[in-house]
Amino acid sequence: MSEERKQFETEAIRTQIERSEFLEHTSPIYLTSSFVFEDAEDMRASFTEEKERNIYSRFSNPNTTEFVDKICKMEEAESGYAFATGMAAVFSTFAALLKSGDHIVSARSVFGSTHALFMNYFPKWNITTSYFDVNKPETIESFITPNTKILYAETPTNPAVDIIDLELLGNIAKKHNLILVIDNCFATPYLQQPIKFGAHLVIHSATKLIDGQGRVLGGITVGNADLIREIYLFSRNTGPALSPFNAWILSKSLETLAVRVDKHCDNALKVAEFLESHSNVNWVKYPFLKSHPQYEVAKKQMKLGGNIVAFEVKGGIDGGRKFLNAIKMCSLAANLGDTRTIVTHPSSTTHSKLSEADRLQVSITDGLVRISVGLEHIDDIIADLKQALEH
Ligand SMILES: *Cc1c(COP(=O)(O)O)cnc(C)c1O
Repeated sequence: MSEERKQFETEAIRTQIERSEFLEHTSPIYLTSSFVFEDAEDMRASFTEEKERNIYSRFSNPNTTEFVDKICKMEEAESGYAFATGMAAVFSTFAALLKSGDHIVSARSVFGSTHALFMNYFPKWNITTSYFDVNKPETIESFITPNTKILYAETPTNPAVDIIDLELLGNIAKKHNLILVIDNCFATPYLQQPIKFGAHLVIHSATKLIDGQGRVLGGITVGNADLIREIYLFSRNTGPALSPFNAWILSKSLETLAVRVDKHCDNALKVAEFLESHSNVNWVKYPFLKSHPQYEVAKKQMKLGGNIVAFEVKGGIDGGRKFLNAIKMCSLAANLGDTRTIVTHPSSTTHSKLSEADRLQVSITDGLVRISVGLEHIDDIIADLKQALEH
């Protein structure tokens, strides 16, 4: 791809696979499990990879290729592979690159299923993980051992919306020769491009803001071509591939990512400012509020603050439950990054199995509420939150 790079929004719309003989404007859906060869020589050259072409949709498919090409342009990555879910991307990335005896250093605040991989499954294959506290980045290097291979983090974190300094992680990874892997799901490639700060691989759950409309599951890993080659070979054998239909949906979704995320962020900042002014709220965390402890870092590495707002309602666990029960319009759901505003209370739901001490280690207080701010009119979102706070 030696063509001149265009602006982010343009690449998101104009990156497209070759048109067929019908000259369709939008790429069609290629629902086919396999592709035919012209003759024995074509087949031989395809299997030995002398020719780059589609063979079988577990390996590649025109729709997944288009989706991967777009994300690569957005993240300024060399190469990528698309997965059926975000968790398939997370699992396959680690499984392809690590062997027995290897060690991971990760931020403690990671997505629940990623935490389960680190604690319940990887130890079965003698792959161990040490966690650092996201608010004590000065301790990260103390966890690195000669067996450490991967440095891993999500930023902003879920659900407490802490920010981790990507430039710092990039420098540590370089100094200790580690592979830096960032789950960039909360920021999207529009708001933050970790490769610019030294990340080798970037993972997304495309289920969230990339689809943005609560329809399909998907995931992707992009980055350094040699590492992606390992992940590709692992995945073409183990089978976590994204379906062509979902790839088509996600590829179309990317065309509107910038305008959607701009509006999500605009609404989220207004929600954060409203909550900060409300007397039934103890504190609010949003990356682009000046009161956020890592506001300066957020400004350095993010274009806007994202769509997730965390706040503590007065009254602890009961206060949180009462607030959720009084919500009328916003949804109580397990997703985030949807057009619909979603409200969750982590300490009584997603994180209820953790002890209070463990919850506090990842900044989840009893009254913590997480809002994934959607695209409804801002006045209606705030009116719903206001009546629930005053219930
Ligand atoms: C949702 C999510 C995942 C997992 O993605 P799925 O598509 O649900 O498998 C991974 N990381 C983060 C940060 C997420 O929010």
